[in-house]
Amino acid sequence: MARKALTAADLKKYEAALRHMLGVVTGDIDVLAEETSHEAGRDVSTEDAGSEIAALELSLELLGKDEQTAQEILDALDRIKAKAYGDCEECGEPIPKGRLEAMPHARNCIDCQRALEKGTY
Ligand SMILES: [Zn+2]
Repeated sequence: MARKALTAADLKKYEAALRHMLGVVTGDIDVLAEETSHEAGRDVSTEDAGSEIAALELSLELLGKDEQTAQEILDALDRIKAKAYGDCEECGEPIPKGRLEAMPHARNCIDCQRALEKGTY
């Protein structure tokens, strides 16, 4: 179990990812938006769009394009600055790296997130 293993390089990587995602959710990346609408129209899998796009597509799916998500990304960037990034806000445990890779703006570990989702929705 890797615990508390976020290095400065890790944080840099997540920060870059977060900034990229912020660009996506705030609509700064027009190409992606276009790509997504094409997808919707054609109703095909993301596979033939290339793995690069597919990876971004995954982020888009997770994100949606809403202000709340943008805020969560901003919060995550704040946590990086405050050196509080990567810890679950509910239980205080380090969020597994795999989860941060898939969802750099995650504020909770998977267990807490599941519990929250069950309770909230
Ligand atoms: Zn937790």
